Amino acid sequence: MTCIDVAVAGGGPAGAFAAHELARAGKRVLLIDPETCRPRLEGLGERVVRLLASKGLEEALEAASAPMPRKVSWAGLNSTANGERLVRRHDFDAALRRAAVRAGVLHTVARVSRIETCDPETGVVLKLSNSERVAARLMIDARGRQSPSSAGLKGPRTLSLSGLLAEPGDSTGTHVIATPQGWLWSAADPHFGHWIQISIDADDLHGSGSDALSKRMRAFLRQPQLGSRFTDAGFKGRLLARHAGLVLAAPELKLPVLPVGDAAVAIDPLSGHGLFWALSSALAAVPAVLTLLETPARGRKLAARFYRDRVVETFWRQARTGRDFYHLEQNLAAYPFWSRRTAWPDGEPSHASADKVRLERRVVVENNRLKERDVLVTPQDPDGVAFVAGIPVTELLGLVRADGPSRSGSPDLSPAQATALRWLDSRNLREGSPGPFPKPPANMRETA
Ligand SMILES: Cc1cc2nc3c(=O)[nH]c(=O)nc-3n(C[C@H](O)[C@H](O)[C@H](O)COP(=O)(O)OP(=O)(O)OC[C@H]3O[C@@H](n4cnc5c(N)ncnc54)[C@H](O)[C@@H]3O)c2cc1C
Repeated sequence: MTCIDVAVAGGGPAGAFAAHELARAGKRVLLIDPETCRPRLEGLGERVVRLLASKGLEEALEAASAPMPRKVSWAGLNSTANGERLVRRHDFDAALRRAAVRAGVLHTVARVSRIETCDPETGVVLKLSNSERVAARLMIDARGRQSPSSAGLKGPRTLSLSGLLAEPGDSTGTHVIATPQGWLWSAADPHFGHWIQISIDADDLHGSGSDALSKRMRAFLRQPQLGSRFTDAGFKGRLLARHAGLVLAAPELKLPVLPVGDAAVAIDPLSGHGLFWALSSALAAVPAVLTLLETPARGRKLAARFYRDRVVETFWRQARTGRDFYHLEQNLAAYPFWSRRTAWPDGEPSHASADKVRLERRVVVENNRLKERDVLVTPQDPDGVAFVAGIPVTELLGLVRADGPSRSGSPDLSPAQATALRWLDSRNLREGSPGPFPKPPANMRETA
């Protein structure tokens, strides 16, 4: 039996990236993935590019195009603003797995068939499809939507059908088009071909098998709103059907398993946020794993709070942002696909707001470990700030006391302190600052 620190189940972006980062932090990691990703295109935002480049993972970006023009035909949002890169997901995922192996990760081409033992104190024993058994102190669940979660909350059930056009046109770039039956994403990439993806109500597919998928795709593409552009479109190979609704798959951490990416919150294609969430949630799992391995008892409490806050907040933000996006399409509001999605989840604003400045006790990342700290919440920073220019917010009060409004350029302040004071000014948090918060909040004075 192989014995390691961390077993990572699933080598999509979330699993491969988590494995890479944990190996770089010196842990013994095994990545288990069947390597069955079907060729497909997705959109990749600039935040993903920056994150991968910052970790030296430029090789994965070779699977992505340069930014391409994006056209949007969506009432309330008719524009060609912003571009997006097109990423060949099968090449992208494979490049991330190769980088993980180069960083020292062991890799097995197999599936996790069963979790035989699962104990917060001793770890997991996994049975793989190649009959291997693996013992690990922690398991990262990065099996995406295939993770057998107890699935808490789900949004309207969306199904996406996609495929490669047999006869690509001569266009490049992407086009998002709203139609009564749902929405279409057309993406033409010179290295891959012309990819068509439609998103419909899952209940709006009758029958099963490839004939039913082809029939449904044809009916969608013949809608008058699409003109004659795709009326006679044929596809190369089988169409791909994927569930695409938003799911809060694992709201609570049940150690020794840490879900990341879609296994924690499955993101829908509309947001274009899925790959960023996959990578950022994998990155957030690293300090949780390191803290759990080094100080298990303390780590369990911190990791549970840290995980829950991020995952639940991400789900609600995505749910409400998606609702607002569907709501912009006023011309189609009466069709069932649209009315369901503008009525869910509720009428709350998509982004948290804070009307009062306050300190809250939260779990934050410090030196790649989890730690409880005071976090400053302001109207401009409703998610809270733990450090400014590397200085803990609670220490800022010392600076506020020592420094009058005129001294922010003083030579005896370090560059970090000067930056922190400018930040306080920008929030009107310094005595002498103009604006609605002439003094630091009372609880900030007490705790510093
Ligand atoms: C139709 C559609 C279009 C999308 N378009 C976009 C887009 O344009 N831009 C964007 O940012 N996001 C998009 N998303 C979201 C994005 O695809 C996901 O959020 C992202 O792939 C999640 O990454 P992941 O690593 O968590 O999971 P996945 O990418 O699903 O990877 C899971 C991995 O686990 C493996 N696995 C499964 N079961 C097992 C097992 N038992 N044992 C071991 N391994 C296993 C799989 O083979 C796979 O390699 C889209 C989603 C859908 C459904």
